[in-house]
Amino acid sequence: MSNAAARRQYEENIREILNRPGEMRERSRTLVVPEKLGEALAEVPAGAEMSLDVRLESVHEGILVSAEVQTIMAAECGRCLKNFTTPFQVEFQELFAYTPTEADEYEVHGDHVDLEPPLRDAVVLALPFQPVCRPDCPGLDPESGELREAEAVVVPNEIIDPRWAALAGFEAEEDRDSGGTPESTRN
Ligand SMILES: [Zn+2]
Repeated sequence: MSNAAARRQYEENIREILNRPGEMRERSRTLVVPEKLGEALAEVPAGAEMSLDVRLESVHEGILVSAEVQTIMAAECGRCLKNFTTPFQVEFQELFAYTPTEADEYEVHGDHVDLEPPLRDAVVLALPFQPVCRPDCPGLDPESGELREAEAVVVPNEIIDPRWAALAGFEAEEDRDSGGTPESTRN
């Protein structure tokens, strides 16, 4: 597939609703990402499957596009440097104008709108700036360079806030109570 053909995968034909304010179309499809989205530690890689739910609304000024994008992102963990992939989704809404009045507005091209520029912008904005493989990734030991033991980041008992300690005791008591209930109902 040529580059131009690959990029046309993001185009939506709007012939049926062109200049017909009030008309609306909803479409869902799956495509293969033709070229990666994102330039930093996290990206949506080329070849990733992407599902696209698009609503196209004809308004006086042009076509209002609302889109939901579901795909995967590939990233390098900022703490342990491991490569990982994880589901990723983003939404955007943009007006494609018949006659754009400002330089940054999107334009209706003939009988289609090209979702690639706003989709790329939305994805790049939503990709994490400092990706982590999991929220509690302990990261690398600064001395050995090895992955730290997860235990190393567990908060030691002695610095637990007294208010939390009280709550922990309360929960333990509750457990005991609920454990006893089936006994009494059985009798
Ligand atoms: Zn990690």
